Amino acid sequence: MKAPAALDELIAALRCLPGVGPKSAQRMAYHLLQRDKPGAQRLGAALTSALERIRHCEKCNSYAEESVCALCRSPRRDATLLCVVETPADLLMMEQAQCYQGLYFVLMGALSPLDGIGPREIHLDRLAQRAADGVVREAILATNFTVEGEATAHYIGELLRARGLKVSRIARGLPVGGELEHVDSGTLAQAVLERRDI
Ligand SMILES: [Zn+2]
Repeated sequence: MKAPAALDELIAALRCLPGVGPKSAQRMAYHLLQRDKPGAQRLGAALTSALERIRHCEKCNSYAEESVCALCRSPRRDATLLCVVETPADLLMMEQAQCYQGLYFVLMGALSPLDGIGPREIHLDRLAQRAADGVVREAILATNFTVEGEATAHYIGELLRARGLKVSRIARGLPVGGELEHVDSGTLAQAVLERRDI
């Protein structure tokens, strides 16, 4: 027996989520229809509303409901500092760490030529323009310490240095409260290389 077309479509639609195969899509669809109709309604409404209202901030490129987000508009932020991160989640992590008072630029990814992600896909033209506003003095590169993140930091470093900006890279290091014997050797080696005067 064939499932109703609308159910088939729901299952197919759920498969756009990362890590969701046919079986789990089916489970989710049945769960929503059988056990949680209010939840399903809320999900549908939230999706529609997010798709309609969320756009990219003109300045930092993160998600926003206004053309320029609240963080970029805040007079309390230090506009001479521009921290470059890969994703809005990374921006949130930086904010939660409460260690930074400057502004941000969110790349929405990292360079990955094999996946077809080049300078254009991570909006480097907009970053170059943003960093050249005459106010920004230093760019702090906080991309991931993955092959892609490192390559991206290197590329952006060259790009912004050529435009007369000071460029720095966040340091890798030992975790707070971490003991040397429990740290992987790559992290320890990097901590020694990036040691500083005390
Ligand atoms: Zn913004």
